[in-house]
Amino acid sequence: MKRFLLLGVLAFAAAAFAGDGAAAPQRVVTLAPHLTELVCAAGGCGKLVGVSAYSDYPPQAALLPQISDAATVNLEVVLGLKPDLVLAWDGGTSQETIARLRADAQPQVVRRGKLQEEIVSLEASLDDELVSLATNREERAAALSPELLTRYTAALAHAGTSGAAQIDGGKCDGCRIALSPLDLDRWKTRPEGTFMACPECGRLLLP
Ligand SMILES: [Zn+2]
Repeated sequence: MKRFLLLGVLAFAAAAFAGDGAAAPQRVVTLAPHLTELVCAAGGCGKLVGVSAYSDYPPQAALLPQISDAATVNLEVVLGLKPDLVLAWDGGTSQETIARLRADAQPQVVRRGKLQEEIVSLEASLDDELVSLATNREERAAALSPELLTRYTAALAHAGTSGAAQIDGGKCDGCRIALSPLDLDRWKTRPEGTFMACPECGRLLLP
C-alpha cells in the first residue's frame, strides 16, 4: 500500500511539475525533506524556491533557501518567496502553520489527504496524456537526426527525467547547477546546429 501511494504521489507530482500547462506550479515550497525529495524525483527540482531544514537530497536541494529550522516554519521567509504551491505534511506541519499560510498568502496548500484525492482523479487522465505524449514524442523523434536522437536517448537514460534542458541565468535548468564561465562560453560559441551536453547531468543544452 505504501509503495502504491508513493507511486501515486510520484505520478501526481510528475503530472504537476512536468506539465507546461498554465496551472502547473512555478514556485514551490516544501515543508519536509521527503517532500523535497519527491518533488525532485518527479522532475520538479527546478520549480523549488524554498525547502525545509534537512532537505539535503538531491544535493542541489541543499543549496536552496531554507524556510524552517528543526521545529518551526519561518512564515515570513515562506511568504517572501511568493510560492504558488506549498507542500505540507500531516505528520510534521502544525495546523496553525497551515492556517496562517492559507490566510496570509493564499497559495495552494496541498496536504496529504487532498493529494490522495487528486491522485485518483489524475491517474485516470494520466493514461490518456501518456498516449498523446508517446505519439508526440514519436513525431518529434522522426524529425531528429539519428545521431542527435541517440545522444538524446542516452542523456534521458542518464538523467532520468528529461534528456534536454535550457540554460537559465547561467544554470542548467535540469540539474540547477551553474555552468563554469568556460563551459558557458563553449555553449554560446558552439557551431550552429550542434548541441552541447551539461557537464554535470549530461542533458543536451537547448539553444
Ligand atoms: Zn545539468
